Amino acid sequence: MPSLLGEVEVSEDYIIEVENLKKHFPLKKGFFESIVSKQEITVKAVDGVSFNVKKGEILGLAGESGSGKTTIGRLLLRLVKPTEGSIYFNGKDITKMKDSELKPLRREIQIIFQDPYESLDPRMTIKEIIAEPLRVQKICKNEEEVEERVKAIMNDVEVTPPEEFMHRFPHELSGGQRQRIAVARAFVLGPKFVVADEPVSMLDVSIRAEILNLMIDLVKKRGSSVVLITHDLAVSKHVCDRVVVMYLGKMMEMAGSSELIDSPLHPYTQALIAAVPVPDPNYKRNDVIGGEIPSPINPPPGCRFNTRCPYAHERCTIEEPAFVEVEKGHYVACHLYT
Ligand code: SF4
Repeated sequence: MPSLLGEVEVSEDYIIEVENLKKHFPLKKGFFESIVSKQEITVKAVDGVSFNVKKGEILGLAGESGSGKTTIGRLLLRLVKPTEGSIYFNGKDITKMKDSELKPLRREIQIIFQDPYESLDPRMTIKEIIAEPLRVQKICKNEEEVEERVKAIMNDVEVTPPEEFMHRFPHELSGGQRQRIAVARAFVLGPKFVVADEPVSMLDVSIRAEILNLMIDLVKKRGSSVVLITHDLAVSKHVCDRVVVMYLGKMMEMAGSSELIDSPLHPYTQALIAAVPVPDPNYKRNDVIGGEIPSPINPPPGCRFNTRCPYAHERCTIEEPAFVEVEKGHYVACHLYT
């Protein structure tokens, strides 16, 4: 498989390889618009992204809302079909697969949703919630094995003793405990790949680190890989091995998480980092980003960040910057570096 990132071929080192992925959603036109123009209006939610996820890696997808990161998560899970491009899971292109071919893969690819209040069925007990994927995939020989597996993962996510909690309903648990159960459900099948969509953003700040650390432990223990969708770059540094920064459906920067946070190259990444809250009342914020993210229906020509970038110059409004490697493993799309 050719790679837009240069040296990468289909490799046993990668669980996921994404090539030139696009998702354009057609918009319904009003009566007046349909008379004025026959041209289709589309939202370019994801517009040509290429990256890979290594085995055992946690890759962060960061950016404001409207950057396309959540749509990428849905594409990776094949909850939506791409307009163009490929997604290789363990070397097989899942974008070409029929639903029947995808079913066995559902065991290996899981999701943790943002909202632990909505993602757990309120009518099911904790045991039934965690056991459901085991039953759907017909993993266990008998009911004893189901219960054994449920208890084991409840111990892993530290909702203990399992005997006390497994017969309760979600509303009888705290927000943190519910998200631990959502993590347990995602990991009970021993998935190879998990998409975690803002898994702690709805939780109290005091328990976010606990849930993230729990996730890291499970990833290490089970050898899974994770794409962590987040708008919080501080979270990325703590949890992720590498981070991709998205803006209006495009990749702006990609690097190891420490390098990206400590030495960001792209003006957009610099602006996101400047916006991370600092627990110091005397800290003078250096806000360099202004304005709203433009509409993905009609993104700015040239560099998509040019309407908000303090370094924008003429070339930026005409020519789209290529996504190039400027230091080993550090990629950026900006004319300041080419
Ligand atoms: Fe700013 Fe131009 Fe770089 Fe875009 S290409 S980030 S507008 S300097």
